[in-house]
Amino acid sequence: MSEQYPNALRNPVFRVISKAATTLNLESYVIGGYVRDYLLERGDAKDIDVVAVGSGIDLANAVSKLLPGKPKVIIFKTYGTAMLQSGGIEMEFVGARKESYSKDSRKPSVENGTLEDDQNRRDFTINALALSLNDDDFGRLLDPFNGLEDLQDKIIRTPLDPDITYSDDPLRMLRAIRFATQLDFKIEDKSLKSIERNADRIKIISRERIIDEIHKILMSYKPSKGFALLHKTGLLKHIFPELLALQGIEEVEGQRHKDNFWHTLEVVDNIAKTTDDLWLRWAALLHDIGKAPTKRFDKKLGWTFHGHEFVGSKMVFKLFKRMKMPLNEHMKFVQKMVLMSSRPIALASDVTDSAVRRLVFDAGDHVDDLMTLCEADITTKNPKKFKKYRDNFQKVRDKIVEVEERDHIRNFQPPVSGEEIMKTFGLEPSREIGIIKDAIKEAILDGEIPNEYEAARVFMLKKGKEIGLSVIE
Ligand code: ATP
Repeated sequence: MSEQYPNALRNPVFRVISKAATTLNLESYVIGGYVRDYLLERGDAKDIDVVAVGSGIDLANAVSKLLPGKPKVIIFKTYGTAMLQSGGIEMEFVGARKESYSKDSRKPSVENGTLEDDQNRRDFTINALALSLNDDDFGRLLDPFNGLEDLQDKIIRTPLDPDITYSDDPLRMLRAIRFATQLDFKIEDKSLKSIERNADRIKIISRERIIDEIHKILMSYKPSKGFALLHKTGLLKHIFPELLALQGIEEVEGQRHKDNFWHTLEVVDNIAKTTDDLWLRWAALLHDIGKAPTKRFDKKLGWTFHGHEFVGSKMVFKLFKRMKMPLNEHMKFVQKMVLMSSRPIALASDVTDSAVRRLVFDAGDHVDDLMTLCEADITTKNPKKFKKYRDNFQKVRDKIVEVEERDHIRNFQPPVSGEEIMKTFGLEPSREIGIIKDAIKEAILDGEIPNEYEAARVFMLKKGKEIGLSVIE
């Protein structure tokens, strides 16, 4: 006896789909993520995937006609799928199909098939679950691979031999790791071994798709699980060799440095507890990326990573470019966080006003994010040290607030404009203006003068005189 889940289909849209399918005389099923997430009680998903045993495009058109406002049907001819949106829900319709793959591409050749053929081509047993939308058994679960049991046991398993599933479409290896991380599931052993064997086939997957999965891993509750699996399966070296390069501990003359790969993963987990900002999580992932190429051993100093922040911020650009990620303000933000990642630490032991003003000046609106990153970076297991570092950062945070209230350094605007400098000394656009403006800014940051117009004007006159300019009345 198979189970009935009419409650999963209480949204009236399912009856509409059912009715449209009946008029076309074809069977239809809701399948995949919607069913999985309902059974996991993750709430009703907003994406519904519908399989029609027949034409998915015809079904989408018929459904649209029955819906209020007849929503527009978007057709993807090459894939034989159609999509429409109604009442905040996105529905995708596909005809049931049978797929066969060739070795060098993840684009299969496709034939029409039965529901079972369609379930066979799904990536995991938990994603092959389908609920009938047909009149005679509306809400019946069709579960040919015991996906329900795998859901309960929290297992990621492929419906077919994993070597076939992963080799056909290597993206599935990343999806396995992503679902294991998002849902906190275990990848079945046979599957894990198969991913290890097939890891280098990830090469045929587009970078955009890889990054989509990495984003989902990063946005999970405990992203380290995903990165540890990428490492274990050998996928990491194909995707982020620069992260893998952080792994390992070297010892010279009895001195060891920490393993910066596992440290990085701890930092990412820490930051995941305090922020949902994807790019700040990226910054945590990449904050030590420059440590591998800058690592040196010095007899006096021990292990050093001089300039790793600068090198790291350059590597961020290269990594984003290689992975075809947009080189926009998000990338610049990650670069900035990496570049500045050690600044608050240098401050923590001796928090002077001027150093804090410089920090706020350089970090601008991102100074809070920078502090969040630094706090996540504390991974010491020594409770006394942990508290000491936390308290030090709290002091920096307090000082930032104090200095901000007084000096308004964030989004710094020069209190005397370039135009006024030109007018005062009768200058054409020239180097002198830059020199004076810079001197005013430095004097404010050093605390020599307050961030106010009057004081800055007096300072400007003094500085002008120093460099041989005279005031024209
Ligand atoms: P999420 O919305 O969290 O990404 P999802 O399972 O809905 O989860 P989609 O990418 O929307 O993910 O895919 C919908 C369904 O299509 C999946 O549940 C699965 O059945 C199937 N599917 C998606 N991608 C693949 C793939 N690469 N190989 C096989 N089946 C896939």
